Amino acid sequence: MLKLKKALLIADPQIDFCPGGALGIKDGDKIIPAVNAYVRRFAQRQLPVFITRDWHPRRTKHFKAYGGVWPRHCVHDTKGAAFHPKLRLPKEAIVLSKGMGPEEDSYSAFHAYDNNHKGLHHLLQIFGVTELYIGGLATDYCVKYSVLDALKYGYKVYVLLDATKGVNLKPRDSVEAVRQMLAAGAGTMTLADIAPVPKKPQRQEKSKRPRH
Ligand SMILES: [Zn+2]
Repeated sequence: MLKLKKALLIADPQIDFCPGGALGIKDGDKIIPAVNAYVRRFAQRQLPVFITRDWHPRRTKHFKAYGGVWPRHCVHDTKGAAFHPKLRLPKEAIVLSKGMGPEEDSYSAFHAYDNNHKGLHHLLQIFGVTELYIGGLATDYCVKYSVLDALKYGYKVYVLLDATKGVNLKPRDSVEAVRQMLAAGAGTMTLADIAPVPKKPQRQEKSKRPRH
């Protein structure tokens, strides 16, 4: 059962990280229904929901063309940088951008900022969050670095195994990333561990209809 002090953090559910995107992750889009379900369950409990996005400049050392590892992806204000069209966010969700500087990789959500240039850690402190539930794209980069940073900051962390997929530049990168996160102190969970909140309060006066 979720109580206060908990928050959801979803990394980079963006078009460029889904199949057909500039840096498409195999089955990256398949996590969206689970992400939506987590978002709904946290929002129903009035728990904060944080979503990060890669928000790169056109020229950055992050890209292969300028000395980095990656093809050009998630250039700010382009179609590929938009959230997946099936992602459903409540208006209270807090969007944080990262990788805006031309020298930054910024894999970790702890290098992401909201519109007022407030960083994730600062915002979590304001909300009094002590436990983070982290999923998104990709397991072996932004999720891993966010989880490891969260643990360093002293948060209790759960990796949402059914709401994350890896890039897997090497085939076992995601498996290895999960191993590293667990070794550093993270726990894991899936949607089955969080009960959905019923839409309407159950009416006690309504008795079951007899079966015919
Ligand atoms: Zn990036």
